[in-house]
Order: sequence, then C-alpha cells, then structure tokens
Amino acid sequence: MPDFLDSDIKYLKGVGEERSKTLAKEIGVANFRDLLYYFPFRHVDRSRFYSIRELSGEDLPALQIKGHFISFSQEGEGVRKRLVGLFSDGTKLIETVWFNNLKYFASQYKPGVEYVIFGKPTLFRNVYSISHPEVEIYNPDKPPTGFRGVYTITDLMRRKGFTVLTIRRLIESIISQPGFNTIEENLPKEVMERYHLMPIKEALLNIHFPSNAELLQKAIERFKFEELYYLELNILRFSMERNVRIKGYPFSKIGDNFNNFYKNSMPFNLTGAQMRVLKEIWADMKRGRQMNRLLQGDVGSGKTMVAFLTSLMAIDNGFQAAIMAPTEILALQHFDTISKWADTIGVKVALLTGSTRQSQRKKIHQSLEDGSLNIIIGTHALLEDKVKFNRLGVVVIDEQHRFGVAQRAKMWNKGEVAPHVLVMTATPIPRTLAMTVYGDLEVSVIDELPPGRTPVTTLVRWDSSRVEVDNLIFSQLKKGRQIYIVYPLIQENEKLDLKSLQLGYQRTCDTFVGVPVCYVHGKMRPEEKEKQMELFVSGKARIMVATTVIEVGVNVPNATVMVIENAERFGLSQLHQLRGRVGRGADQSYCILMGKQSSGSETKKRLAIMAETTDGFLISEADMKMRGPGDMEGTLQSGMPFNLKVANLAKDGQILTLARDAALSVLAGNQSLVSQDLSTASVEKIQNPIILSQKEINFTKHELRLRFAHEVDWSLIS
Ligand code: ADP
Ligand code: MG
Repeated sequence: MPDFLDSDIKYLKGVGEERSKTLAKEIGVANFRDLLYYFPFRHVDRSRFYSIRELSGEDLPALQIKGHFISFSQEGEGVRKRLVGLFSDGTKLIETVWFNNLKYFASQYKPGVEYVIFGKPTLFRNVYSISHPEVEIYNPDKPPTGFRGVYTITDLMRRKGFTVLTIRRLIESIISQPGFNTIEENLPKEVMERYHLMPIKEALLNIHFPSNAELLQKAIERFKFEELYYLELNILRFSMERNVRIKGYPFSKIGDNFNNFYKNSMPFNLTGAQMRVLKEIWADMKRGRQMNRLLQGDVGSGKTMVAFLTSLMAIDNGFQAAIMAPTEILALQHFDTISKWADTIGVKVALLTGSTRQSQRKKIHQSLEDGSLNIIIGTHALLEDKVKFNRLGVVVIDEQHRFGVAQRAKMWNKGEVAPHVLVMTATPIPRTLAMTVYGDLEVSVIDELPPGRTPVTTLVRWDSSRVEVDNLIFSQLKKGRQIYIVYPLIQENEKLDLKSLQLGYQRTCDTFVGVPVCYVHGKMRPEEKEKQMELFVSGKARIMVATTVIEVGVNVPNATVMVIENAERFGLSQLHQLRGRVGRGADQSYCILMGKQSSGSETKKRLAIMAETTDGFLISEADMKMRGPGDMEGTLQSGMPFNLKVANLAKDGQILTLARDAALSVLAGNQSLVSQDLSTASVEKIQNPIILSQKEINFTKHELRLRFAHEVDWSLIS
C-alpha cells in the first residue's frame, strides 16, 4: 500500500522541516495519517455570526463575529503589557487582547480587511473583550458554518506559532488534496454493515468539520469503535495464541492431600461461590493448557482458602505451589493462616520475604530445589533468580495490581513448562477493564460472602459530629472491641499529611486516655511497622491510627470500627477496601466516613454511595465513572498497557462490547489472522463468524502492526 496517509508531514504545504519536528516531538504527528487522527477534544459552534450589540450577560460561550480592526495600541507595563485591538462589526466595538507576540499580532491584521474573530467574550467594566481570539480573513465563498474542532496545542507549539487555527488549516489542506479520496476503509465491509458504522472518509471529514451534531456523533462513534475493535482484536488474538501455544501441566487427579483436608480438617464448609470457582480452576488445570485466570472476590469473600485448595491440587499431582503477596504483612498473614491448615495434613509450607534471615533463606532455597517444600509463600523476594523450584506447578498472585506484567512473566519462567497462574484481587474490576486491561485473562468471581457476617453499617459524618463519633468509639472499646482510625496520605504533600496523622494520633491518645494506641504509616522502617501492626493484631493495642497501609493488609475480626478521616480525599474503591477491614466477625461493625461539611455536592454524592451499598462492583463502576479508568487503583500502579485516543473505558462500555463481539467474529472466521492453529481454541463456538477477503486480511494485519508496534509489549509474557 503506497499510501497517501503515510506521506511525511513535512511535505504538507505550510509545515516544512522545522515545524514538522515540533509536530513530531509535541503531539507525535509524523505523517498525514497521524494528523488526520489528531482529533479535536471538543467542538465549537460556528454556524452563525453574532453581532456585538446582541451580547449580554457574563457567561457567554465562544462565538464568532465578522468585522474590521479599527486600531491597535500597547497598554500596561511588565507582565501586564498587552496589545489591545479595537474591533467593530458596525453595531458596536469589542476589544481583542494579546499578551504575547505583541509585535507579530500588531503587524498581522490590516485595517480595511474583513475578518472573522472567534473566542469567548468576557465582560470587564462594561466592555466585552476576547483574549487571543482566532482570526481569519472572511471568505464570502466559504462562509464558516457548522461546527469546528478545537485541538490541544502544547506550550512549545504555541511558542513556535501553532494555534488551533494552524492545525485546522493543515487538516483542511490534507482533506482537500486528491489523495484524500484514495484513502481506503480500514474496517472490514461486513463489520461496517453489521454495526452500522460511518465510512472512514466521511468520518474523518465529520470529526474535524461536522456540519451538524448528529454527523459528529456518528463520526466519533465510528472512531471509538475502530479503536476498541483493533484493541480487542489484538488482545484476543494474543490470548488465543497463548492458550494454544503454551502448554500447561495437565493435572490428572484430585488426590489424598486435597481429599484428606477437605473431608477431615477444613474448618468450615465452602460457600457455593468458592466451590464454583474451584471447579473452574480445576477445569483449567487438568486440560493440558496453561491456566491464566483472574479471581475477583470482595474483601472477606474467602480467597485464601481457594488459593490453598488450588495449591493442594498441584501438590497432589507432584508439583509445588507459590503464593505471592504484595507486602510482608500480607505474606505473613497468609503464612500464618495457611500453615495452620497445612499442618493438619502434613503439607510443608515456608515463608520467604525480604527480611528472612540468611541462614533460613539458604534452607528454603535448598528445600525448594529438592522438592521437599510444597508451598512457598512470600513477597517479591520469590522473584529473585536464586529462588529455584523443583517442579513449580501453580503460582497464585494475591492483590494483582501491585505486580506488573513483567513480574508475572518472570514467575512463569521458573518452570520448564509455564506454571498455571491464578491472579486474585479484591478490587472489583469494572466490566470494561476486565475486557481490556485484563482482557487476556479468564475471569472467575466469588460473589458471595461466608455466612454469619453482619453487614457493616456505614455512616457519613461531618466534623461537627466529632463527639458522637467519639462516643461510639468509647462504647465499642467498652465492649472490648478494637478501632481503626485512618488518615489519607497523598504523595504531593507528604510532610503535611504526616503532620495531620501525627496530630490525629495525639488527639486520639488525649481523648481515649489510658487506651493503648499504635501508629503505622508507610514511611516507617519495615521492622517498626511490623512491630506496630503486631501490637494491634495481638490485641495489645486497642486503637490503630494509620494511613492506608492497612488497606490490603490485616485481618482482625475483633476490630469493629473503621473511622476514615478526610474521607473526601479517598477514591470510592479505596474506601471500600478500607471498610472491608471491619465486619469480619459476628458483631455489628461500623464504618464512619468523616468529611468536611463544606465539601461540594459531588463529594457528598460520592460518600452517599458508600453509605448506600456494600456491593464492590457497583462501587467500582461508580468510581470509574467519576474518576476515569486511568485513576483506578490497579491500573494506576501497573500502568495501562495501551493508550486510548478517543474511546473512554468509563463511558464507552456499550461500544466496547460491540467491538469485542466484532473482533471475536472476525477471529472465528479467519484462521490466518493468527499464526497458530486455533482449531482447539474457543473461537470455534462463536456464532456468526465474519469471513474477510484476502485484501481485508492484509489490511487488518497492517493496521494491527501500525497500532501496536510500540504500545503493547505482549512479547514479555509470551
Ligand atoms: P479475602 O477474600 O479477603 O482474602 P479471606 O480469605 O481472608 O478473605 O477470608 C476472610 C475470612 O473468612 C477468614 O477468616 C476466613 O477464614 C473466613 N472464611 C473463608 N471462607 C469461609 C467459609 N466458606 N465459611 C466461613 N468462613 C470462611
Ligand atoms: Mg486476602
């Protein structure tokens, strides 16, 4: 394809060598395609001219006026120095103001020429003015109608003389070239028809210069679909190939350890959800392909037992299991829990973390290598090269979001055949993220809590109710219960945060005189933190004042109150995680969200959601809608493996579902899109496969290469 779209941007009239460098550096535009896909972030209404006389009120939108410049003058001194142009449309005068490049603008616009100026008028001392308006010579043959795109212009671009108008003109110039008509549709014909999409050329025209809102909408939808379709195609292709190519150990039996534990020493009966999930895991592990499963289960839903029983399945087939946690505290807690269970059936478990003594460490390495150790529990320390397994059969990763893709990959390389991988998370993952960021994993859900839990009562309280909250704490302390008080820790201003935590600690000690209080934050040395945690876990401390370090950590069933200070500064998912620390025993527990009375209505609405529901999925969906997927706990830490330009995972769930359908249908109909034989993969079952022409197949491969050459480094995991 000797493509018009691949033309170097520097050959576009008005660009040239120098400016093309700026475009490439600032907005990644190297060729015509890149610029055509540099979409406006919003559109303005240019469908009519306003007269200056009709302007009234303070809050006017950006609008356009046709007329002449009367005069220019420099006003002000120093940083206030500005160029003021008087502009008349025959009805009245309006001021136009420039704060930089004064000389340039003063010489640019001629009296007597008819111009169209565009911008947002502001009212000051009864005079309207527009700062840095867009100015165009009025062309009566081409009256500005319809909508116009507004483009992001970086500071550097601005300094080099780029404006929204420059970009718009450049795009216009590409569109007006004969080559534009040679652009070929990059979505298959049948996909276009099945999903009623706007064709590429029409869509490009309408996303930049729509003549009405409806066409603009259709154009945006098309590009969202296009973007998500190729993303899904890529993810699904990757996971299908991996499914077929990467052999997994076929576990053939449920053996003595499992049966013995299950029948004789398991301390409770599994919930229906735990049972179902275990069946899904077993089905994966016995089929001879590598398991890649994501297990979602709300805090307290009993994932640890699932991890243990999964490990027993591996052990009974002659393999070892590794369980990896994000923090020492969590690893220790898993070790305490699991070794108690394992002891009853003689299964050997060890703990390996950064603080494991050297002598102990040697022994562990040895027993892992000779196979006498069955389960190793630990932190990142498990990833060290020195850690070698005899036969690693399954890796369980708890709280996945603390581990990146690269770390998962490293773990996998420890066996000669890739071990099965079970990723567990308590952060419920919104559907759209599950289909994208985690789109290469199969998903299991524990949607049921063990019986005998009393739901946590959530209260939203303002500072004025401090006494009421203190009284609640007093009464719970009297019953022998323990209390968490959590302060936000936000990186931008660590010092201040730490100070509010210290003040909070002081206040707590002063208010609850004689009650032992411990104190934990992320900046403490690990040993000190461990010591403080231990005070609370053992019950020696009755109140814990802490930052969010306790979020994914401890399990203290005797704790019944969780007070969260400055709750407005937390994300909903984070609040939900924190709340999950209480309500672990049979007693009534409370989660108190302390907010500022003066918080905005948006904040109050957020906190109200917490009081209304304990459904982690609802909460995470709401959280994503309000904050966007980039901010979601989990994606923030591992980083999104791709950048979306037009589509928005928080808003475009419906388009995503369609795009995924389309991608599946295309994969089902076209074996040649993948390099492996997929006859054994699940694509066979897909209804309505879409069969592409050879040309479309080539086009699809071309697009995939184009889009994902740099962005998604899936090679890490394969
Ligand atoms: P999480 O999913 O948050 O990791 P845990 O595995 O820590 O949850 O389980 C929370 C608590 O529930 C633990 O005390 C655990 O022993 C208990 N538990 C787990 N499953 C059951 C069950 N089926 N019946 C009763 N209690 C259970
Ligand atoms: Mg857990």
